[in-house]
Amino acid sequence: MIYKMALTTSLVVYTPSWNTETEKYEDLIPCVKGSRGNQTYICSCSGEDIALKTYTNFESHFTRKCHKLFRSRYGEVMRDVEIVRLNAIIVADRREMQIAQAKHEKEMAKLKRKYHALKQLRKEENMLQEVD
Ligand SMILES: [Zn+2]
Repeated sequence: MIYKMALTTSLVVYTPSWNTETEKYEDLIPCVKGSRGNQTYICSCSGEDIALKTYTNFESHFTRKCHKLFRSRYGEVMRDVEIVRLNAIIVADRREMQIAQAKHEKEMAKLKRKYHALKQLRKEENMLQEVD
């Protein structure tokens, strides 16, 4: 019972959708007109959480001045979020490269030591053969 209640009350944050043709964020109503039992979305464009569940909820909410302003600025916000996200990827990649480089240098040093040890052995072997 509790589990079922938790499922029906789970909320999703509403975000405008990117239109690749107009290259703008647009409001899309995520349910069909007249449908029931839809997912509840929360839009916080006005500074408080507004629950949106029916087609009519979305339709009337999208005409609000604060929502229109939120949608028009959403691209700028997302651009900033994207910059932060890409910077995090760059930092992670750089760190991964540094780790790989350090590992590579360690392996190279190990190989060099082996090479010099082998060279030394050959030299000693040659000296022993000369004595024979
Ligand atoms: Zn809104």
